[in-house]
Amino acid sequence: MSILLEKARQLLTERELCDHCLGRFFSALGSGLRNRERGYALRVVLQMEDRSIGRAQNHCALCRGAFAHVSEWAERAVTAVSGLEFDTYLMGTRVPAEIESVEQALQQRFGLRGEPFKQEFNREVGRLFGTLLAERGHPVRVDFREPQIVLLMDLEKSELTLQVHSLFIYGRYKKFVRTIPQTKWPCRACRGRGCRACDFTGKTYPESVEELISPPLLRETHGSGTAFHGAGREDIDALMLGSGRPFVIEIKEPKVRTLPLESLQREINERAAGKIEVSQLQFVTSSVVERLKNCEAEKIYEARVRFSQAIHAACLQEAFATLLKTPIQQRTPQRVSHRRADLVRTRRVLEISGELISPTEALIKVHSEGGLYIKELVSGDDGRTQPSLSELLQTPAEVTELNVLEVIGDFLSP
Ligand SMILES: [Zn+2]
Ligand SMILES: [Zn+2]
Repeated sequence: MSILLEKARQLLTERELCDHCLGRFFSALGSGLRNRERGYALRVVLQMEDRSIGRAQNHCALCRGAFAHVSEWAERAVTAVSGLEFDTYLMGTRVPAEIESVEQALQQRFGLRGEPFKQEFNREVGRLFGTLLAERGHPVRVDFREPQIVLLMDLEKSELTLQVHSLFIYGRYKKFVRTIPQTKWPCRACRGRGCRACDFTGKTYPESVEELISPPLLRETHGSGTAFHGAGREDIDALMLGSGRPFVIEIKEPKVRTLPLESLQREINERAAGKIEVSQLQFVTSSVVERLKNCEAEKIYEARVRFSQAIHAACLQEAFATLLKTPIQQRTPQRVSHRRADLVRTRRVLEISGELISPTEALIKVHSEGGLYIKELVSGDDGRTQPSLSELLQTPAEVTELNVLEVIGDFLSP
């Protein structure tokens, strides 16, 4: 008798195992076979030689008969996902500690390294779940990396939990008014609860870019909520022009995932006409959100600058030349220091140009590395940004109008 058969014999003499659990210890043998078939084959061969080997029992010492409930779990899963649109899923099992410890003990004793119980159980329930859905005209497939839903079976509590993963929609937005923040700002007085100061809206500003984009998407997906992820943000009073700023709307727990994005884009743009405009709406994976968060994109700005004293055109050009060749040391601006860590960062001006439109006013265009604050590059922020236009021209200077002309970068390709 081969060593493996002898091990199988000893296993069965010592413990009552179902065919699944027996076969799983030998999962490296006979590829193409399912564990149950492998276990059955081994058992039959052994029974021919040894009359004491019994038939497969339901009260398996390892899985405690879990495999007898595969169809029950699969049916519960089908019920749980009814009315939900998805095409990729992942099964998960919370395995009772006893099953794991018996499995490990037997593997060690007999020097066998089979497939873990959890893996086979997930696959068996998943396979049947997929078949049942396919019969109902709803084909689905397993996705280990980014499944749209996860079904988690807790064997001990006999609980099935459904997690519906978010849907991510990418786009770019332009902003044509100086009164709208990117995202909702809770009212400072009541922290969002609603008070007289905010007219019981709970908000500092009645509208935001986020609130102009999200509602139709949430309505169509029947999700539980949304989150807005921008590739940085412009100041409330800055326009966002050019091809717009990349963003991703995350829709939580969507029931619908196929959307007519083109007509939704049209609807958003019609509702928000004159305020914002979105383009390029498309579905993306969650990795795009990471890229938006981690990438400090280069930007091109256009600013109207007011000086306290009259400036010579030649001095202005000289100041540009200095800003271009000097790395800018910028300490976190006072106006954002309440929400950003206080540190000094070095950023470069990559291009800068502009002209005086009156002795005390200029229109300038700046192309900078990501993370450079333009208002402070102009004002100097009480010496916290060095050098600055104000310092170089030796007169107070301030940005009176700021437009972002371009957020440069490819956020979509990996
Ligand atoms: Zn078993
Ligand atoms: Zn309030």
